[in-house]
Order: sequence, then structure tokens, then C-alpha cells
Amino acid sequence: MNGINENAGWGVMITEHWARVSAELRSEIGENNHKSWIEPLECVSLQGGVVEFRAPSRFVGDWVKRNYQDQIFQRLRSDNPAIARIEFNVGTQPRKAPATPAARPADAPALRDNNLQGAPLDGKFNFDNFVVGKPNELAHAAARRVADGGDVTFNPLFLYGGVGLGKTHLMHAIAWELHEKRPDLQVLYLSAEQFMYRFVQALRDRQIMDFKNLFRSVDVLMVDDVQFIAGKDSTQEEFFHTFNALVDQNKQIVISADRAPGEIKELEDRISSRMQWGLVVDLHPTDYELRLGILQQKAALFAQTYGPVRIGDGVIEFLAHRITTNVRVLEGALQRLFAFSSLIGQEITMDMVQDCLSDILRTSDRRVTVEEIQRKVAEHFNIRLSDMLGPKRTRTIARPRQIAMYLAKELTSRSLPEIGRRFGGRDHTTILHGVRKVEEMRGSDSQMAEDIDLLRRLLQS
Ligand code: ADP
Ligand code: MG
Repeated sequence: MNGINENAGWGVMITEHWARVSAELRSEIGENNHKSWIEPLECVSLQGGVVEFRAPSRFVGDWVKRNYQDQIFQRLRSDNPAIARIEFNVGTQPRKAPATPAARPADAPALRDNNLQGAPLDGKFNFDNFVVGKPNELAHAAARRVADGGDVTFNPLFLYGGVGLGKTHLMHAIAWELHEKRPDLQVLYLSAEQFMYRFVQALRDRQIMDFKNLFRSVDVLMVDDVQFIAGKDSTQEEFFHTFNALVDQNKQIVISADRAPGEIKELEDRISSRMQWGLVVDLHPTDYELRLGILQQKAALFAQTYGPVRIGDGVIEFLAHRITTNVRVLEGALQRLFAFSSLIGQEITMDMVQDCLSDILRTSDRRVTVEEIQRKVAEHFNIRLSDMLGPKRTRTIARPRQIAMYLAKELTSRSLPEIGRRFGGRDHTTILHGVRKVEEMRGSDSQMAEDIDLLRRLLQS
């Protein structure tokens, strides 16, 4: 290597080299991700073609390995081909204090000039802090698109999904991003409840013209939890007019609700059909991987509030496995553990989890059974339960059976052999085949994807 002694030469330079790569990564992955995952890494040495990093905890190390290893490696290597590998170890030596205290995202709202006349925005609800997985990837992509502030390509964007799946988070993220990218735009975010409140107030104060002018002068209108105005006739009426006026002016509208437009009872038909002119996107219930990602992300955020806390083996995985319905509850559970752990100055152990979270764990204990799944699926497809379990192989029976197998794998903690036993004593390979088949088909068969979503919702409610 041009006579450069690897240790003396690159050994000194590797830290500089890393500083440069780290800066490049910041623009690539965003400020918050960079703060949470890259900044805590210490680049220790380059020896024998191996760059060694030290991470402050196993948890940070694992996360970086899983998510950023390739990026880091490629970048380092493109400058110095002698680098063959990178390694992450957990640090035992005290780290230098950072030169500037890390900015807390929680401070963000106060720092931003909030000239919105809408609801206050949560500084933590930004895109950097939104973890993307299969269940929310389309919603995220659509939200990003709106946040670009370019041409209006779909209007409205209608986001729907169960409680705590990230609708509000995405809407705030759009607002933050637009503030930054397009400060010239008037962005108004508020809940449907606030919309109604203002409308009623304007009626009372005889300022309905002001109300109309305000709402018709914005460039981007975001109304959260629109199901709230269902059945409230004059509010719906006014909302409809506002909506149409803005669409006519080609202004972007973003709406959220807890269910699809057509499923909101007492929402006028003309409104619900108008909602479907744009892009209607479903936030699906989280899957295990997404919950893991969210927990890791939240742990990094909580560490900024509570200080670094050690998390014992298996804790994160356990939470992701057990608290499945609502991200808010998942987050609350983790926060409670952080608060407790920092109070008593001990790492978060499985024992602590059982003690601190007994209430949450008890309520999430109501798990779906394989039998319930079989019953609901049979009902939905109008087949007999006995056929579900029996040997018939015609498609009208076999397909629902495979969907039930798939849901059993997804929604229960039963192993494949256990599921097989409950499907009339089938072999685990048959179950695996069924699960794979459905996984494969649901991507291309939208009817099947819809059936599955509906069943999942029914089973989890
Ligand atoms: P909704 O409005 O759909 O009821 P929220 O947007 O209020 O749900 O989300 C509930 C909590 O879960 C918030 O703290 C939010 O930050 C968090 N959350 C939900 N989905 C995600 C995600 N994909 N990544 C990070 N946090 C999430
Ligand atoms: Mg919400």
C-alpha cells in the first residue's frame, strides 16, 4: 500500500476518514438518525484491513449493523480499497463527552416559528423518527410525496388505519417538512374536532365569512380524524364546501380517519365518494419487524430524555412480540421501563418488564386462537368449518384454508407443527407451503390482500 504503514498511517487517518464519511451519512440518513446511531459510534482503529467501531451499547451496535453496515462499509471502502471489513464492538472505555450537547427533538417546536393557525405540531413527529416497514410503506411514500410540495398529483391523500398506527405522526411530518422546504406555503393542520369547534364558534360570533376565507386561503389543508364529523350535519356540509373549494384551486388536502371513507357511518355519501377521488392509503397493523424497529427508534429518543439505559437481552424482542395492536401502547411501555430504570439506576431486565408492565401485558394477553381464525375465515368465505379442517382440495376450500393458516402464523405464537395439528393433523410443511403461497399471492392479488386485511381487523378488534 504505497509503503504507508497501516497502523501509523491510516491508523491516524482513519478517524479523519471516518469524520468525513460520517458527515456524508448525515445528509443521506437525516439528522436524527445520524444523532441516534452514527454519532455514538467511535471509530477505534484500522488493522489488517478491518475497521473497528465501538458502540456504546449492544443495542446500538446491533441496530447499526442491521441498518447501516453496508452504507458505512461501501463509503469507507470507496475511499480506501484496502478496507476489507468493518466490525462493531461494544465499548467499555469511557467515551469523550460530545462537544455540543445533543439537540433534543422535543425542543424543536419551541424553536420553530409557528405561524400556523392550526393545532400545535409535535416536534418528534417528523419523517426522521418515522420507522418504515411493509405495513406503512405506501402511506409513508405518499406522505413524502405530499411533503415535497411539488405538483398536486392526488387530491386528497386519505390516510386511514387503526388507533396508534402513525396517522397523526405522518401528518405532522408532512407539515414540518413543508415548513422547511416550502416556507411560502400556508399549511394548516387541525383535527376534525377543532374544525367543528371553529365552525361553531364562527357561527356563534357571526364570523362565518372570516372562517370561510381562512380555510379557503390555505395551500395545504390537513384534517385529522375526520370520522369525528360523521353525523354532524352542518359541520359536514361546511367541510364539504371547504374541501371542494380547495380542490378546485388545486390546493393539497390530506385527511385521516380510523377507517376507509366508505366505512365511516353517517358520513354523507357525496363526501365519502369525493374522498375516494384521490389516493386512499391504508396503514396496516404493524408486524413484528416494524415493532422492533419502532422500539429501537424510541429507545434512542428516550435515551435523550432519560440518559443512556442498558436494555437486557431479549427485552426489546419480548415487547415487540407481546404488544401488538397499538404503537402508542408499545411506546408507553418502553417509556415506563426507561423511567423506572433510570430512577433506580439499573438495566432493564425481563424481571423488571414483568413487574412494571403487568397491567399492559395482561390486557394484551387476549390473544387470538387458531380456532377463532378458522371460524372467522370459514364464515367470511362461506365454507363449512369441517371443510376447513377436512381433506378437500378444491380451490374454493383450499384457498380459504391457506389464508387461515397464514393468519394463524401471523396472529398467534403457535409453531407450524402446532398449527398443523389444529388443521386436522396436517404436517408442518403443508402449513409452511400454505403460508408461503398466501404471502406470495397477496402481493399481486388485491382482492386477497383486502380479504386478509379485513379478517385481521375483525380478529384483532
Ligand atoms: P394515530 O394518529 O394513527 O392514532 P399516532 O400518529 O398518534 O397514531 O401514533 C401513535 C404513537 O406511535 C406516536 O407516538 C407515534 O410517534 C408512534 N408511531 C406510530 N407509528 C410509528 C412509526 N412507524 N415509527 C415511529 N413511531 C410511530
Ligand atoms: Mg391520530
